[in-house]
Amino acid sequence: MTDIEIAQNTKMDKIGRVAAQVGLSEDDIEMYGSYKAKITLPLKATKSTKEKLILVTSINPTPAGEGKSTVTVGLGDALRKLNKNAMIALREPSLGPVMGMKGGATGGGYAQVVPMEDINLHFTGDMHALTTANNTLAALIDNHMQQGNALGIDQRRIVWKRVLDINDRALRNIVIGLGGPVQGVPREDGFDITVASELMAILCLSKSLHDLKARINRIVIGYTTDRNPITVQDLQVGGAIATLLKDAIKPNLVQTLAHTPAIVHGGPFANIAHGCNSVLATRTAMSLADYTVTEAGFGADLGAEKFLDIKVPVLGKHPDTIVIVATVKALKLNGGQALQELDTENLSALKKGVVNLTHHIKSMAQYGVPVVVAINRYTQDTDREINYVKEVCDDFGVQALDTDVWAKGGDGALDLAQTVVETVEKPATFKPLYSADTDLTEKIQTIVTKIYGGKHVEYSKKALNQMKRFKQNGWDKLPVCMAKTQYSLSDDPKKLGEPHDFTIHVKEFIPKLGAGFIVAMTGNVLTMPGLPKRPAALNIDISDDGKISGLF
Ligand code: ADP
Repeated sequence: MTDIEIAQNTKMDKIGRVAAQVGLSEDDIEMYGSYKAKITLPLKATKSTKEKLILVTSINPTPAGEGKSTVTVGLGDALRKLNKNAMIALREPSLGPVMGMKGGATGGGYAQVVPMEDINLHFTGDMHALTTANNTLAALIDNHMQQGNALGIDQRRIVWKRVLDINDRALRNIVIGLGGPVQGVPREDGFDITVASELMAILCLSKSLHDLKARINRIVIGYTTDRNPITVQDLQVGGAIATLLKDAIKPNLVQTLAHTPAIVHGGPFANIAHGCNSVLATRTAMSLADYTVTEAGFGADLGAEKFLDIKVPVLGKHPDTIVIVATVKALKLNGGQALQELDTENLSALKKGVVNLTHHIKSMAQYGVPVVVAINRYTQDTDREINYVKEVCDDFGVQALDTDVWAKGGDGALDLAQTVVETVEKPATFKPLYSADTDLTEKIQTIVTKIYGGKHVEYSKKALNQMKRFKQNGWDKLPVCMAKTQYSLSDDPKKLGEPHDFTIHVKEFIPKLGAGFIVAMTGNVLTMPGLPKRPAALNIDISDDGKISGLF
């Protein structure tokens, strides 16, 4: 059975019943139909006595993903099977991957969050609200230019782009305002994907509506001709933009196939954005459940680094255990086996590629939090391959658990869950990777050497010039959000395994003052992806009676 068939064949609980499991009454939720709800803020109910946080991350992935969401869901279900009060916090899927290459993001097999069609498509409308809020700001900027430009904005230096939540390469670079004086001020513009937008990052890092509005007001939309930054506060439209996000800021409650309560909220990509679900979602889950299992996107070099260096300071809580998901297939890919041949046993490729896993174990261990490995078993994996990965982890003094949640749901992760229950009680001394008062260059150098295993950082002329301006503006000590390929520890997607002595190339910076960080664009990473030759959209269909197929 496909993921969608499994989901469609499972009877869901009414969302009120799911909410009640974690002490949420009808007054605490706002219903979006029978199976989805938003949680009313500020949260009144609290049930947790422990507040343990488990972060799920992974090795450098194959294009299909290594099962982080699947293991997150399965681990949450397994914890509940052990009679623990557990909850899950995941990101909302973007239509880019759903229609493009990677497919949905609601887990897989018997470890899914449901209703999977809704979550993968329009869900509770958060993505649309973000897209609309972003483009409202764009329209207000262009209107300001048209109506006399009292702030003296240089139309060549407007950095606020329009967004759309679909991969659309044709919109990366556009010219707007053509057609004469009444059609606006002509200028170059471009679209990013919604999940890479600053508003998405702001939504995910805001602690309250008040914080959301304050962050929106700090957004830099462009510069004057003498290069002074112009903010949303200057345009006096922060209130309007925040108003458009009044519901989007509330966490969404759904359930797993086993009825474990799950919050699915906020969805920045981890390669071109910070890659974690909202702070409010994680906070809410921690208040309601003793064990919160959450995920950060792509490999530990991207999502987990940003979770630990960007999200943790805002969240005010570090993970009590980090689970690194590894698959035999991705390790073999990292060891040089061809993508089309990953289904066949290949111990020599596995032995070469396992360095990618040990690299991530070492890099995560630097944060002072216990690390556990979850081997996400695929049917084609052989016992010899799985046992080899376990032996390597054993030699590293790290526990590696064979998990099979895709085929068995929570029953496939009972050992992992038991291990996590014990591990979260171990004393952890969280050590931030860099201190907040270091320069941008020092922060980047630290990430490159300590997390990626690289040696040098090379800055383009544009990046060097930008840094001078950042110093003048007092932005040179902000946290950094690296935008980098997910396939390699380096910025070259072809350098697999554990590359050494490489240089990371910073092409340019994108200051995101509302989010509170500076994005460093490395290699050839794009903030508006394109669709592949055979997009996933070709498989998706809907029958006359409304039954969806092909959504993974
Ligand atoms: P990630 O979160 O790491 O990107 P996902 O959990 O979204 O990965 O899984 C990616 C895809 O792989 C999904 O379609 C899922 O159904 C599938 N998948 C995950 N684990 C397994 C497994 N053990 N066996 C078969 N398919 C799996």
